[in-house]
Amino acid sequence: VYRIPCEAFPDFVVYAHLVLGAGPPTLVDTGSGYGQSNDHLREGFARLRSEFSERAGLADVRRVIITHGHVDHFGGLAFVLDHCQAEVAVHGLDRRVLVAYEERVVMATRALRAFLDLAGVPADVCQRLMAMYGFSKRHVHSTRVDRILSDGDVVDGMEVRHVPGHCPGQVVLVLGNVLLSADHVLARTSPHQAPESITAWMGLGHYLESLARLRGLEGIEMALGGHEEPITDLGRRIDQLEFGHRRKLDKVLGLIRESSEPPTIWELTGRMYPKAKGFHELLAVEEAGAHVEFLDQRGDLAVANLEEMESDSRPAVRYRAT
Ligand SMILES: [Zn+2]
Ligand SMILES: [Zn+2]
Repeated sequence: VYRIPCEAFPDFVVYAHLVLGAGPPTLVDTGSGYGQSNDHLREGFARLRSEFSERAGLADVRRVIITHGHVDHFGGLAFVLDHCQAEVAVHGLDRRVLVAYEERVVMATRALRAFLDLAGVPADVCQRLMAMYGFSKRHVHSTRVDRILSDGDVVDGMEVRHVPGHCPGQVVLVLGNVLLSADHVLARTSPHQAPESITAWMGLGHYLESLARLRGLEGIEMALGGHEEPITDLGRRIDQLEFGHRRKLDKVLGLIRESSEPPTIWELTGRMYPKAKGFHELLAVEEAGAHVEFLDQRGDLAVANLEEMESDSRPAVRYRAT
């Protein structure tokens, strides 16, 4: 397995992984296709030849597996398909993101907008966040998908595990003692969570269940995420991620309990992430929303302004602890 670093967006590196020796030359993820990402992919293949004497070039890739439908992982797919004859494989729940990207962006934008309204994000901030959201998607185009991956599939020795949460069709791949953990498990960052009210099969509940399922994997000596350095103790990393979310859930409950007025998700976001600016503000409100949703789904929260919610004024939801 070779890791090819690509700058997906300024100061944000994503890895494309080239797998050799498990069926045809297989590229797992393609970079973002934005900025220099495609150049970096090409340079990565050139270095395989010059530094590692591998003969496989980009033109020899015969299979592309997309770990999930986020642009930093599949935005470069159109470029890759221009340079090789490869089948494209993705989990069924992320298929439409690849084949009907324009539709997906329109519908996801609408769902995001509805979430931000219910979260109580002020109109001017909402406009700014929506503009940023749209910008990050503009360079991507729809492509084809040839093969649908399902949980438990074995593709030339690589075992597919479906781990929804960070993304609906998120998969990780088991290759002997190596796990390609994509954005499900990262070395330093807790993978971003968004509420499943925006997109089904996302949400913290699915994520934590998927995380727990990975505990059953035995003999993994190294996990390679879609970002950041390799993980040598997967079990410990899973513990840390789980603990981090439990702590965040406690924090949200605590903040709601000690509020003089039942807060909105946006008000909670300001207290949880006071320093978030720019694109991070959008990530922060989604992250807070995912934790509020988790607590609400499990009956730890209740809507404090139900009467107001019945009116036509489209108010934000205010939460109280039960
Ligand atoms: Zn992702
Ligand atoms: Zn990513």
